[in-house]
Amino acid sequence: MPKQLFTQLQSKKLKKLGILNSLDLLLHLPIRYEDETQIDLIKNITPGLMFQVEAKIISIDLTYRPRKNLIVHVSDESGDLKLRFLNFYPSQIKQFEKGKILRIYGEIKSNSFLFEMIHPKYEFVTPKTPIKDFYSPIYPSTEGLSQKMFFKLVQKVFEKENFETQYPDYFKKLYIKRKLPSLLESLKSIHKPSNKFEKKIFDDRTSIYHQRLIYDELLAHQFFFRGQYHLNKSYNANPISYSNTAQEIFLSNLEFKLTKKQYSVFLDIKNDLGQDFPMNRLLQGDVGSGKTVVATMAAIQVIKYGHQVAFMAPTEILAEQHFEKLSSWLVKLGINVELLKGSMSAKLKAAAYERIKNGKANLIIGTHALIQDKVVFKYLGFYIIDEQHRFGVKQRLALRKSNKINKNFEPHQLMMSATPIPRTLAMSYFSDMDVSIIDELPPGRKPVKTKIFSDKKRDEILKIIDQHCLNGEQVYWVCPLVEESETLQLETAEKTFKVLSDYFINHKVGLIHGRLDSIQKKEIMNQFKNNQIKILVATTVIEVGVDVPNATLMVIENSERMGLSQLHQLRGRIGRGEKESICIMLYQKKLSDLSRRRLKVIYENIDGFKIAEEDLKIRGPGEFLGLRQSGLPTLKIADLDRDFELLETIKKDADSLLRTNSKDISNHINRWHRNYQDVGRS
Ligand code: ADP
Ligand code: MG
Repeated sequence: MPKQLFTQLQSKKLKKLGILNSLDLLLHLPIRYEDETQIDLIKNITPGLMFQVEAKIISIDLTYRPRKNLIVHVSDESGDLKLRFLNFYPSQIKQFEKGKILRIYGEIKSNSFLFEMIHPKYEFVTPKTPIKDFYSPIYPSTEGLSQKMFFKLVQKVFEKENFETQYPDYFKKLYIKRKLPSLLESLKSIHKPSNKFEKKIFDDRTSIYHQRLIYDELLAHQFFFRGQYHLNKSYNANPISYSNTAQEIFLSNLEFKLTKKQYSVFLDIKNDLGQDFPMNRLLQGDVGSGKTVVATMAAIQVIKYGHQVAFMAPTEILAEQHFEKLSSWLVKLGINVELLKGSMSAKLKAAAYERIKNGKANLIIGTHALIQDKVVFKYLGFYIIDEQHRFGVKQRLALRKSNKINKNFEPHQLMMSATPIPRTLAMSYFSDMDVSIIDELPPGRKPVKTKIFSDKKRDEILKIIDQHCLNGEQVYWVCPLVEESETLQLETAEKTFKVLSDYFINHKVGLIHGRLDSIQKKEIMNQFKNNQIKILVATTVIEVGVDVPNATLMVIENSERMGLSQLHQLRGRIGRGEKESICIMLYQKKLSDLSRRRLKVIYENIDGFKIAEEDLKIRGPGEFLGLRQSGLPTLKIADLDRDFELLETIKKDADSLLRTNSKDISNHINRWHRNYQDVGRS
């Protein structure tokens, strides 16, 4: 970019808006437009709207009390109008000479008997001054950068820079096929739209010119993700052969039969493992749908082939639970299962590291402790990440790189998620992965009954709890995060614990929360599992994975404040046994329409995918995916909530262009997302 295009001061101000070069400037789109393309008669103007009039100065008034005020009286042949200025320079007063003609644009107020405009835009004109034939762009700006200046700078870029050489249209044929205008034409039009179009399509960003930019941005996004997808196929992995015997022993010892869906998903995975490039699959399945057993079968396959498997979970409770379950399943197969977590003593850790390094440990289950530098695998062939949405992109990638001894081969990877994302969204947005879905629950589950109660009915709830405990069943009482304050949440939980302990003299009440250390947590969870603790008061730490089939009642406080997927996850902790389970969702105060709508969804649906679809409708994809927090590149112009339907087509276009292997693909990615590099895996 020629530096002299912006002055130093301008550059500094532009930088505040994230504008570093002329393309940034052009992609800094107007947020709205003003219509100064026609002249209205004063007699036709109405308060509250924007108008442009052309009128002659009749007189000016200067008043100082109660405030400094400059009032310019103007009139056209149809009526009179007052212009009021509260901030003005002495030179301005002189400018407003009687008889001169002004073209004025502003909002009409009617707080006096005369209509007036406060601080309107104005310019002096002669009868020959041409009227604008384009809508005036209004830019998101910062102090010291006027709209006029923005407009000038943008137009200067178009005039001075040889735009088409610098920013060529890379994929001309495709744009013709999709009936989209060129980049130059689009940008020119967006920054100075002709009034032969409706203004609304520019305000709403639905013009064909906006479409082109949205298309480009999403194309860059898909290039990146699909690029990763195809790149993955160029890496080497060991094709894992299938061990019939091991799987038969495993299945014949299992306390249940796999569902059809579990089996078909296992076949997807088995097939992936047999290929000579790394598996990169997301396994989605509702809470309780039985993902763990599928992952275990895949692990057996890899271990029997002679490689190690890592299994990473987001919390120690969950890692321990997996450790117990998988150890009991796998001991008959002669597989050594290792647990690795942050809270282990240095001595125990060192011993574990040693077994991981020398290959004695076959399956290593753990938390983030698995991705520490000290962990060196002998030969990591496969890793599983449970509740993958709880890990950042970088953490997820860390395991892939931890194969320090054998760098020639990449491990296979399987991500699991119990936060269902509607299939179409998952396939088109997370397009760097293959996706498998388990959308049925194992047989014999009784659907959890959901009740929605006002907070005031506590007495009634205490009776229900008592009844459950007398039946030998157990209860969760969940205190959610209150206004994002962990301290407050803890207070509520402690208070509830006290109230319940005082009330239920005959049933033991326990309390578990995030501030306890992992030994304390484990002790409490054990007591709950062994049915010593009957009622467990918990903060949202129990959200993922905890499996206590004898717990049949859950009370969730402040349910109106929680996200649908969180409520669904929590509710999934019960209904795991033979007996019927009930989830009571409490709300405080009067429900807002939105809260009511959301609770209705959770009340009426038990299928996580249905809930996710409704949630998507309520919140839109952007918020639904939590894109802002996800560490994924954010979109500047495209809006998933609005443009989500384009994704599927654009994904196909990206795929067919990627096949051409053109250099323009990375040029296009760079043009749109400087920040994509950060999340790449190289
Ligand atoms: P999630 O998909 O939420 O991780 P889990 O794998 O923890 O679910 O499974 C939930 C419970 O269901 C576990 O106790 C598991 O042993 C059991 N389970 C899994 N598959 C089946 C099946 N096919 N039939 C009966 N029970 C099953
Ligand atoms: Mg699970």
